[in-house]
Amino acid sequence: MSAAMTINDAVAEGPKRFPLRKRTGTAAHHMSKAAVGFGLDDLDALTPKEVVFFMADLLWGSHKEMACPHCGTADTHYWTVKELRWKCKGCGKRFSVTSGTVFADRKLPLVKILKMAFSWANGAAGKPALQLRRDWNVTYKTAFTLAHKLREGLLRGFNVGALCGIQEMDGMDINGRRYREKRNKPLGRGAAGKPKIPAHLLKPSVDPETGEIQGPPKPPKWDKTAKQPADRRLLLVIRQRSQAKKKGAVATRIGIALSETAATVVAMAKKFASAESSVMSDEDPAYYSFSKLFTQHQTINHSKGYSDGKGVSNNLAESFNWRMRRSAEGIYLSPSNKYLADYAAENAWREDTRKLSTRDRLRQLLRTAMGVGLSQWWRGYVQGLHREHELLVEGEQPAKGRGRPKGWRPRPPR
Ligand SMILES: [Zn+2]
Repeated sequence: MSAAMTINDAVAEGPKRFPLRKRTGTAAHHMSKAAVGFGLDDLDALTPKEVVFFMADLLWGSHKEMACPHCGTADTHYWTVKELRWKCKGCGKRFSVTSGTVFADRKLPLVKILKMAFSWANGAAGKPALQLRRDWNVTYKTAFTLAHKLREGLLRGFNVGALCGIQEMDGMDINGRRYREKRNKPLGRGAAGKPKIPAHLLKPSVDPETGEIQGPPKPPKWDKTAKQPADRRLLLVIRQRSQAKKKGAVATRIGIALSETAATVVAMAKKFASAESSVMSDEDPAYYSFSKLFTQHQTINHSKGYSDGKGVSNNLAESFNWRMRRSAEGIYLSPSNKYLADYAAENAWREDTRKLSTRDRLRQLLRTAMGVGLSQWWRGYVQGLHREHELLVEGEQPAKGRGRPKGWRPRPPR
């Protein structure tokens, strides 16, 4: 485009030019009045009692009648105005709105948790704990634990349940040494070169019909797995398409795996997709058995295009991958493998709630996160009780620690 030409001229010139970037389907929503209508000021205006009632309504659907977290008695329990807590009519114990939830034994005032959760929820691809720390004048550990309690709630409360309908499934390399390089390309051009195929697999034979010289088949993904660094992970994602056209995906399920093999993709698909579903994927051989597992399995050949023009594509799965990549590379700056599943669940939630208003998003987040009961991984974190394992599709595995080993001491000067 010459300097004198404006965008309008370019548009008027018609389709001769490369198409300008289209606005995404969500852009109209973000600019609309319905997207926002609730802010930190509204949370500030709430009295401490109103905050408790706001959360009680979310959690129990009422602030008058609820089940006691200690004994389960559902009743209109005694409300104590001074303590902003209830006293159970059954067992006589006292409970607050956060008893038995991930926020149990909190030190922060409830309204501050609410405000921090609100600003955390408003990030498009995440919000770093350091930024929360600066905004809210808390310690790094406080911000980190709060964000991770929300992630735990999403991993255990949002990333669950089988989907039924039309789904897209894909795998993406994430983390690990030089993972950005395209798969199936050599990692380096050093002296080692391509990994060698063992001699016992190299026994060429002549095909009697065609006369072609053939070796035994390569083990599936031989080249790829041989080059995979040990700390690389695969992000597997299943996304359900909306029934309505051009509405994108409506539900997302994620899993972190060591590799994209038939075993891991089948385990993931069996967990999150019902047998009646129609699943789309790329032409990776790992997905071969899907035609037997599901009503329909369609593949898209990515070397030919992103979509076959007849509705077969993997673009919704790729769009989640893009958000996750932005999050891991631009916001969280290489999250550890240990918590990768937590970060992926967070982004699945961000992706699926992209068209909710800020208020509904906060309500959805708190309802989901507080619905999973006590935190299994973050209680006692500050005291040194850390989750020791990585959550993988293959099962839990001990996480490799980052930083200095326990008991590390600087070497004394000579
Ligand atoms: Zn009770």
